[in-house]
Amino acid sequence: MLNVPFIKASRAQFLSTLQARIDHQQNTFVVTANPEIVMYAHQHADYLRLLQHADFVTPDGVGILDGAKILGDPLPERITGFDTMTALLTWGSDHHKAAYFVGAKPEVIDFLRDILPSHYPGLNIVGLRDGYFTDEQAVADDIAAKQPDMVFAALGFPKQEHFIAIHRQAVNGLWMGVGGSFDALAG
Ligand code: UDP
Repeated sequence: MLNVPFIKASRAQFLSTLQARIDHQQNTFVVTANPEIVMYAHQHADYLRLLQHADFVTPDGVGILDGAKILGDPLPERITGFDTMTALLTWGSDHHKAAYFVGAKPEVIDFLRDILPSHYPGLNIVGLRDGYFTDEQAVADDIAAKQPDMVFAALGFPKQEHFIAIHRQAVNGLWMGVGGSFDALAG
């Protein structure tokens, strides 16, 4: 749609694909794109290129599904960043995976630091830092040092996708932009 390459998979298929890639330490960049992101990409060629270089772009919004249907190339179902992240955290807790969280306001991160260990007891939380940093390289170096299985970046678009595209080679794991999902996780 508007040159954004959406995946055609069910939520369950997509999740098992991601789990297999994480298990095999494959470098994986996921974008969950809503209509706002598609329109932004349509107007910003550099951001569109970035989406075209992601491994998976999922339809995050009924507007995308409606658009795909109108264009005669329907997509199976909506796959949101929040649902994908929480499903991976549950799976990660069951399989003792390591996760790094970067993004959202400091108070949200403080709250998540309190609640995440009891929600996901088997998850190895190797990084939890807010998204209002000034030294981006220091954040990237910390992620590289921790070598997590999964990096969740909640910096809002287009910032989170630029951040991932620049730093993803530092860790052969999953990198996903999740927008306001840390705020939602904190309730
Ligand atoms: N955010 C951040 N750093 C920034 C700008 C935003 O960590 O420099 C966070 C913000 O606190 C919020 C998330 O990014 O948790 C953006 O949420 P939003 O729902 O606006 O995401 P979008 O739909 O724009 O991707």
